[in-house]
Amino acid sequence: MFTGIKETASRQTIVLPRLAKLALQPPQCLLIEGGTAEDRLDMSRYWACLLNCEGENTPCGSCQSCLQIADNAFNDFLLIDRIDEDGVERQNIPVDNVRKYLSVWGQPPHGRGTRVTVVEEAQYLNLNSGNALLKTLEEPRPGNVFVLTAPQRERLLGTLVSRSWVITLAWPTEVNNTPEVAEWVSGMLAFWRSGQGWFQRTSAKGALTKEQALKVVIGCQRELRNSLMSPEMTPAASAMSGLFDPKGLRRLDLILGKAQDSLNYNVNPALVLDWVCTAAMPRKRR
Ligand SMILES: [Zn+2]
Repeated sequence: MFTGIKETASRQTIVLPRLAKLALQPPQCLLIEGGTAEDRLDMSRYWACLLNCEGENTPCGSCQSCLQIADNAFNDFLLIDRIDEDGVERQNIPVDNVRKYLSVWGQPPHGRGTRVTVVEEAQYLNLNSGNALLKTLEEPRPGNVFVLTAPQRERLLGTLVSRSWVITLAWPTEVNNTPEVAEWVSGMLAFWRSGQGWFQRTSAKGALTKEQALKVVIGCQRELRNSLMSPEMTPAASAMSGLFDPKGLRRLDLILGKAQDSLNYNVNPALVLDWVCTAAMPRKRR
């Protein structure tokens, strides 16, 4: 039912404007990480609705496309999972589950929208099914886009991740950052407090790779979420809620979303984090 999708979307407000923007020129492959497995699948359906909705306020949730996508009955919505042809759930995604769609992908979609193929929990791709999918992604497939869902991008083949546009959903349970990420986040907080001490960090030679910078951005999002839910959850969350008023937190939220996009575009990681620090600077410093 569409209400399930709508409910999940209402908990993932950070990514909705980004998805709407991406829908204007959909990337060939979207990787949805974070959240729960159910959240990821719901957001895949939301994406398919965005790309196929016939209503005005997309996704409307009431046109035929939206309703069929929600009910798994839409011709241009394909799901690849671990269930084999005998209906048995396998340890990995069988290669035949990828291969059976090869001829479908070669044809234009049935409807006027875009065919969306979702690889559900793509960390279960094995060498064979992973390579079959990779080969598919390497060829132009007009009218088709793909979605991979996974708990974290690190659990997928690097070659699949590098071909994907990554969207990170809010994590439901993990509260704490790793010590390394926590260190960077506390550096940001110190800068927001004092206006000092940040740029030495990012200008240190080899300080940051794209992956590390993404972790820092996501770590900062995690603390932001903690501070919104209950500031006493972690010291960083409590510091954050002391530094920013609600409007400032909302601005930080948008800035972190843009930073993720910039990193996906391969903007220099140090520059992206410097921008986050200066752009989010609390207006009223104490
Ligand atoms: Zn619709």
